[in-house]
Amino acid sequence: MSTLQPARGTRDLLPDEARRHHHVIETARALSARYGFAEWVTPIFEFTEVFSRTLGETSDVVTKEMYSFTDRGGEQVTLRPEGTAGICRAVISNGLTQSLPVKAFYAGPMFRYERPQKGRYRQFHQIGVELIGAAEPVADAEAIALGWDILAALGVAADTVLEINTLGDGESRTAYRAALVAYFTAHEAALSEDSRARLARNPMRILDSKDEGDRALVAKAPLIGGFLTPAASAFYDGVKRALAGFGVPFVENPRIVRGLDYYCHTAFEFTTTRLGAQGTVMAGGRYDGLIAGMGGPETPGVGWAAGVERLAMLMADPPREEAPIAVVPVGEEAEAHALAVLIGLRKAGLRAEMAYRGNVKRRMQRADRIGARFAVLLGSDEIARGEATVRDLASGTQAAVGLTALAGWIKDHR
Ligand code: ATP
Ligand code: MG
Repeated sequence: MSTLQPARGTRDLLPDEARRHHHVIETARALSARYGFAEWVTPIFEFTEVFSRTLGETSDVVTKEMYSFTDRGGEQVTLRPEGTAGICRAVISNGLTQSLPVKAFYAGPMFRYERPQKGRYRQFHQIGVELIGAAEPVADAEAIALGWDILAALGVAADTVLEINTLGDGESRTAYRAALVAYFTAHEAALSEDSRARLARNPMRILDSKDEGDRALVAKAPLIGGFLTPAASAFYDGVKRALAGFGVPFVENPRIVRGLDYYCHTAFEFTTTRLGAQGTVMAGGRYDGLIAGMGGPETPGVGWAAGVERLAMLMADPPREEAPIAVVPVGEEAEAHALAVLIGLRKAGLRAEMAYRGNVKRRMQRADRIGARFAVLLGSDEIARGEATVRDLASGTQAAVGLTALAGWIKDHR
């Protein structure tokens, strides 16, 4: 029955997959804390304006991908498609534009109405950081260095390349935009329909087009480098110097723009060739105009977001949890004692489980299925002696162990 399938583009995270996600998030959270980024948790839905006004009326996310609806009170709300707008809204709402810098880490689900593919879902998860209130190029480099450290800790840094670019300041972009409009207008007939619309509204977005015909034109389009003001050039040089200072390897790619409207100066992506078309694992940049555009004071910011699914696909298996202990009562009279032993093991900090029913054979099969390391067998004879028979399920050997010493014995022998 189709209604018993998850909705298109959504997935269940069963334990193996959930463990991979947790490992990504825990690693990122711990390293972010080391850099001074504290976790923020903002709502999963916001007033639609929070996104439509900041991401850009012509961005793909706003025009095609938002999950927006009118709630029962008549409010226009949207399931968040990304994390930056919500954090910036929260900085303003909580009056924090007076206590900068803010260094925020976040993790959670995001929602975009996309065509689902491997590594591309309608509900997906991101980790991200925002460094708000720092206008210096070293801030860009530090945010990137943190991202690089996280990729390294996940064991995927060697599979990724950091590509950086500058989008310049307002003056650089005005000049560059004019050059792009001239170039693409001369080739308008060859542009995709989407890009012809972008030409009038936001020509830089054409550089980000995934259409093959567009990409061929983009390859010969003018580059921003020729239009940078001295100040924008100096900023970019500062970022590159600071990246070298942090020891983060990078390549320059003048084609990187980023799909959202709020970026200026630094734009960057960590990409991999191991995930096919969905090659961007972490992406971000500087967004100095965003908070002012929302109605807050002029406030600089820089940050990035990474797809948890894509990182989880790239990394090796995370460390497994300690194998459990199976408590196995032998005969019905032993069940009450077995329960006491079970409780004692858990209180001692051990993972322990007891099957609810079945004879010894069935319960031992169950112990196998849960991957138990030891089975603790309790029959009336053992109980009378104040002992349990502990079977090592890896080696098949067993030993009689006094009940009071049981948890300690297991900790010593596992
Ligand atoms: P793409 O070019 O792949 O569509 P994007 O530019 O839309 O990416 P961002 O908005 O910068 O992506 O989001 C940052 C990261 O979040 C991406 O690099 C990717 O790892 C992840 N991501 C974005 N959209 C999805 C999605 N629909 N499903 C899974 N991960 C996603
Ligand atoms: Mg996208």
